[in-house]
Amino acid sequence: MAEETIFSKIIRREIPADIVYQDELVTAFRDISPQAPTHILVVPNLLIPTANDVVPGHEAALGRMITVAAKIAKDEGIAEDGYRLIINCNKHGGQEVYHIHLHLVGGHPLGPMLA
Ligand code: ADP
Repeated sequence: MAEETIFSKIIRREIPADIVYQDELVTAFRDISPQAPTHILVVPNLLIPTANDVVPGHEAALGRMITVAAKIAKDEGIAEDGYRLIINCNKHGGQEVYHIHLHLVGGHPLGPMLA
């Protein structure tokens, strides 16, 4: 069993977060340390630690994460200009929180992605 992170507490609404969307599969909330005018995290309600842990049974939740990110981008008014969707995996990917999450980042031009 993977260890829960702070994101499970946010999903269960046990600690405060600016939740912008929630359904039976995913939850989306504003990043506490935004890297752009819009920075929202979309997470599966089920704990999946990293992209390495994804199995076919997770596909509904992972697909929903993108559907929801695209809807939020429209709601935020950033869809037309564009945005970036990012999933970091493990140390080299810069993952800090081991509950898989999709960063929705936009609201201004973003620089080159690869460093
Ligand atoms: P990185 O910090 O390198 O982006 P991750 O991809 O693991 O690593 O992203 C974790 C994200 O979770 C960070 O952007 C961080 O600001 C955000 N975060 C951490 N704790 C909270 C919280 N309580 N509420 C909202 N966002 C959080």
